[in-house]
Amino acid sequence: MAKIGFIGLGNMGLPMAANLLKAGHALTGHDVSAQARANAQGATIPLADTPDQAVRDAEIIITMLPNGALVLDVFQTILATATPGTLLIDCSTIDVASARLAHQRADAAGCPALDAPVSGGVGGAIAGSLTFMVGGTERAFASAEPILGAMGKKIVHCGPAGSGQAAKICNNLILGISMIGVSEAFVLAEKLGLDASALFDVASTSSGQCWALTSYCPVPGPVPSSPANHGYKPGFAAALMLKDLALSQDAATSAGAQTALGAHAAEIYRRFVENGGGSDDFSAIINAIRRPNPAAQ
Ligand code: NAD
Repeated sequence: MAKIGFIGLGNMGLPMAANLLKAGHALTGHDVSAQARANAQGATIPLADTPDQAVRDAEIIITMLPNGALVLDVFQTILATATPGTLLIDCSTIDVASARLAHQRADAAGCPALDAPVSGGVGGAIAGSLTFMVGGTERAFASAEPILGAMGKKIVHCGPAGSGQAAKICNNLILGISMIGVSEAFVLAEKLGLDASALFDVASTSSGQCWALTSYCPVPGPVPSSPANHGYKPGFAAALMLKDLALSQDAATSAGAQTALGAHAAEIYRRFVENGGGSDDFSAIINAIRRPNPAAQ
């Protein structure tokens, strides 16, 4: 069993840390937020007051933080304390450039590192069924696999440093665009007088089939577990979808990739979030699309 320091005990980090403890690992957590610390105490997660206390003597350090700047900041603090050889696993969703920089800094301090963002949301974090997309060396991946296995079901080694983040934003680029496409189809169906369940029955078994339709259908009814049946409670918040689409656009710009639909999807989500929809599930985008088209006759 490993000795683990865990930094960032928010919506995702707290249940992930709880699953590591349940698997028998020794874990000490840290978070800057009083609310997160209170939640962690409620879940009987041992806490340290500072990040360096949390990672002292740790064999593995896991970070689950909101963005790349914070990850680099926390890496700077913990790399000053961590023993060379300590494995750093960053599970946050961050930009590819910061992820690569974090690898370089860990490398310079003699610590192997992995970028290992997740998909599966809070539900997957609680159930221990997350998917991990991992970037880093084969060797670091092999030593992390049993640890990640306590928090997830599917663990994919995507390639060298930064590849996990690249896989994450490419996947969510598909998801953001496809949810808008599915929503447009249901809104057009409504306006044409086509029943939503008829469209679902056809599209879910035809070439329109996709995850946004069959798992997260944006209209209530066809998929009982989808957020549309629960007041669009996330799920996966629209603000997080906007974050991931923005990361994909930054990456596309620096890599010189054309992502015209991704750019448009980011813009549609940006307006939705600015109009107060950020904490709704991202499938609530259908409510913005349902607004009348000013060009209609
Ligand atoms: P969150 O805001 O609930 O948790 C982040 C935690 O980090 C907070 O508790 C915050 O106080 C803490 N934190 C910030 N700065 C810190 C510091 N310097 N030291 C210690 N703690 C610090 O966010 P979340 O929903 O748990 O998401 C975490 C990451 O996972 C994000 O990168 C997000 O994009 C990604 N993610 C989230 C979901 C989801 O459904 N929530 C799904 C997949 C990926």
